[in-house]
Order: sequence, then C-alpha cells, then structure tokens
Amino acid sequence: ETIGENFERTVARFGAREALVEAATGRRWTYAELDAAVNEVALGLLARGIKKGDRVGIWSPNCAEWVFVQYATAKIGAILVNVNPAYRAHELEYVVRQSGMRLLISAVAYRTSDYRAMIEQIGFRDVVYIGEPSWERLIEDGRSLDAAALRERAATLTFDDPINIQYTSGTTGFPKGATLSHHNILNNGFFVGELLGYTEQDRICLPVPLYHCFGMVMGNLAAASHGSCVVLPAPGFDPEATLRAVERERCTSLYGVPTMFIAELGHPEFASFDLSSLRTGIMAGSPCPVEVMKRVVADMHMSEVAICYGMTETSPVSTMTRRTDGLARRTETVGRVMPHIEVKIVDPETGRTVPRGQVGELCTRGYSVMLGYWEQPEATAEAIDRARWMHTGDLATMDEEGYVNIVGRIKDMVIRGGENIYPREIEEFLYTHPDIADVQVIGVPDEKYGEELMAWIIMRPGAEPLTAERLREFCAGRLAHYKIPRYVHVVDSFPMTVTGKIRKVEMREQAIEILG
Ligand code: ATP
Ligand code: MG
Repeated sequence: ETIGENFERTVARFGAREALVEAATGRRWTYAELDAAVNEVALGLLARGIKKGDRVGIWSPNCAEWVFVQYATAKIGAILVNVNPAYRAHELEYVVRQSGMRLLISAVAYRTSDYRAMIEQIGFRDVVYIGEPSWERLIEDGRSLDAAALRERAATLTFDDPINIQYTSGTTGFPKGATLSHHNILNNGFFVGELLGYTEQDRICLPVPLYHCFGMVMGNLAAASHGSCVVLPAPGFDPEATLRAVERERCTSLYGVPTMFIAELGHPEFASFDLSSLRTGIMAGSPCPVEVMKRVVADMHMSEVAICYGMTETSPVSTMTRRTDGLARRTETVGRVMPHIEVKIVDPETGRTVPRGQVGELCTRGYSVMLGYWEQPEATAEAIDRARWMHTGDLATMDEEGYVNIVGRIKDMVIRGGENIYPREIEEFLYTHPDIADVQVIGVPDEKYGEELMAWIIMRPGAEPLTAERLREFCAGRLAHYKIPRYVHVVDSFPMTVTGKIRKVEMREQAIEILG
C-alpha cells in the first residue's frame, strides 16, 4: 500500500471524524476536510509540473499546511525533503543542492528565523510561502486540473518508491539524507499506532517538530493509519502551550523528547492543568531518565507511556515498550524489537552476536531499513552491510527476554585508563541527586588517563551550584571511583539540536576550551 492509498482508506472510514487541530489558531479539519485540503495542494503541485520522484522541500515550523504538503507529495509520488527549521542559510543551501530540490515550500519567518531572507540569500527561486499569495496561487493553479489527474498519477506509484528524504539530526556530524519509501515509514507509523492501541478515539498532542520522523511518522502516520486526530499545540516547542492543548483538546497521547517532558513537569503552574485525559504517549529520541519516566506516569496520568528507540535511517522505530510491560520494564529499557523486524547485538570488532546481557553494537534488519543515504553510496555501504543489516552506531544490551537497553553511542563512550565508561549510567545515578534538574556526562582529554569525566549540570531552581568536591562526596561509595566525574560544569542549558538532542560533540569542544 502507498501512503496515499492508506490515507484514502482512512478518509473513507473516518471522514467525519476530526483529523487535525491547530491549537494555537483554533483551526480544525475532519478527515474529509483534510483530504480536500491535501488534494488542492496535490493538484497545485501537479499543475506546477512536479513529477514522480521530484524533490519538494518543506521548511517550516509546525502548522497544518505542513501536514497537507506531507500527504500531497505522497499522493503524487514526489519526494518530500524535510528541512530542519533551525537551519541557517548555508545549511539550507547544502540540503537544497544535495537533494536536487525542485520546489521549496516554506514559511516567511518564525521567531529568530527569517526564512525568506535566507532563501533569497542563496538565490533559490522556486518557492511557495505558506499563508502568502504564492500559496494561494499554487492552489489556484491546481484548479485547472480535475481529480482524474490525481488518480492517473496514483496508478504509477508503488509502495517501495522513495517518498521522503529526512536528514539525520546531525548530533554526531554533518546530517545525512536518509531516503525512505512509502513502505518504510507507513509500516513503522502503523505499528507504532498498533502498539499504543490507537483508535479513532485517540487525540495525539505533538509538540515535537514535524520535520523529524518523531512527528511525521510516529505522530502523523500513526494517527492517519488509525483514524486518530493530531493536535499541534504551537509552531515551536512551548511547554505551556503544550499543557494547555492537552487540557483543552482532551488529548489522550503526548509525545516528547526527555527535555520537553522535563520542561512541562517543571512549569510553575504545572499542577493547575487538567491532564486527566492522557492515557499514553511516547518518550524517545535520546536517553529517557528513569526519574522523568516515573513522573510522567504518576503526574501526567500517562500510565501506558512507551519508550521508543530508533533512528532516522530505520523509519525510525526499532524497539519499543509494550502496554503490557510492567512499569520497571517500561522505564528502564527501550522495550523489545518491533513486529516484523530483526535486532541483534554484535561485537563491533568481530561482527559476532554477543551473549545476552553483554554490550555490543545494535544492528537491525527488515522493512524499516532505509533505501540508503541520498546520493551517498559510500556512506550507505558503511551503514548497511551486504546482508542488509543496518549498523546503528549505538551500544546496547539485550536480556534473556529480549528487552533492550541502550547504553550510549559508540562515539560517546569514554575510555578512562582502559575502563569503558558509559556516560548514560552515571547520568542516571546523578539524576537521583535532589538538587540536580538535568545532567550530562562527557569525556574530556586527559594526559594521565586518556580521558576524564566531566558532568554538566543544570541545578534545580534555588539550589546552590554543586562543586566537583561536593559531587564527589555524593558519589563516594555508591559509584566505582573511576566513574566519579572529575570536573563539574554548572550551566543553564545544554547545546542542543532543534530536535531537542544534546550535542555532546559541542559540549566536548567547549569543555576543552574551559579546561584550557
Ligand atoms: P546524526 O546521525 O546526524 O549524528 P542522530 O543520530 O541524533 O544524528 P537521529 O536519527 O535523529 O539523528 O537520532 C537517532 C539516535 O538517537 C539513535 O542512533 C540513538 O543514538 C538516539 N536515540 C534514539 N532513541 C533513543 C532512546 N530511546 N534511548 C537512547 N538513545 C536514543
Ligand atoms: Mg545517527
């Protein structure tokens, strides 16, 4: 099935039910209305001469038009290129060139981003601005065609055509364009929705960016394949707008990366919001602290909340917790392998599967593995081996029952005096300190030991900044001596990607400067 076929099946079944809400503006669409809006855009793109396989970019914060464009491009077989809203001109230029973009759909400006100025700066001309006359013209152009044009195009599409290029977050280096098919992302969205038990009764609040697979696949496609409704609280992440949208729209599900949940739980008026409609949700994208998971379950009513593990290259989810898993499993592991895919943990040196419980590189295989990195055959060959296993670069363990634990990225592992240290383990421990709101541990170069540990700490409001000395006292006797951070750096925030991921690469660079 293509995304368009699946979407139309939902429209036929749930046409009168609500599909999309923009909480900030109050605009709302039923599935039948959403389909009509999607078709207008799809016809507009056809009238502009967009062919199957042409790359159409979208560069905008979250809004309803983003969703229209997602399904419109899918219906006409154009490859949607998700452009990160935080990009600056040079990064935009890179993805425009690298993907060979035909048309870019953008917003005019948002917060500190003047999209139009940056697009003009790089000299790209085929642009449609959402909410501007150029958007009206696109819709107007489409009126010269009738619906038969869409049916003709649909007949030429197959489920394994490329439909989407998603650039990776760039947490560890320059973003790579993961090329994904209908089959890749539709199936993944569908199974995420299955495991969360979505039905047409569910209302999913998405403060996460649509440009990332978390929003567009685990959110939009999970919803659309089950007739559920998507609620967009605000164009960008805003904890208060999110809490308000959950309350007013009676959302049953809420997504976020850990830092988003931390911000919501820490909102000064958190207790005044009625979140009793929540049942489930997803925390994913980076390590999910156990303490935060527990509060999400207890204080946000998300008793069925799931943790997912995945990456852009795998459409994205590879493992996920189940509703039937006990709380410990759902807070301390990233669950078990998703239906219809395979996961194995191998020794990165020998490629052999390691015994249960031992750390190795997580590899995955199945429908979810991307077609490849767009026009980067070498990078593709490095990531996907001949037997079609995707090598994730993540270190993990798997227990006897198949539950997976992510211990960190190979690139983040610290080797101190010959001991392998996984910063994640120390971060988990430090979260239990009453004055620590958030913490990240990195390795910094050291003459004696090769590497030493540095903890970056965000204090709770009102708490006195921790010193290395006091931290050592707290850890003494409870952490092995070599795992106790030598340096402490108290900050207000961590360097982050727009998807809310912490950029340890940048932290290491800054740390080296600080230590001189
Ligand atoms: P880049 O590949 O450009 O450096 P990135 O890997 O951060 O960036 P994404 O594809 O958005 O880009 O993120 C996937 C990565 O996020 C995974 O490889 C893993 O390291 C991390 N991750 C995702 N989910 C979890 C989770 N539940 N627990 C721990 N880490 C996670
Ligand atoms: Mg990656």
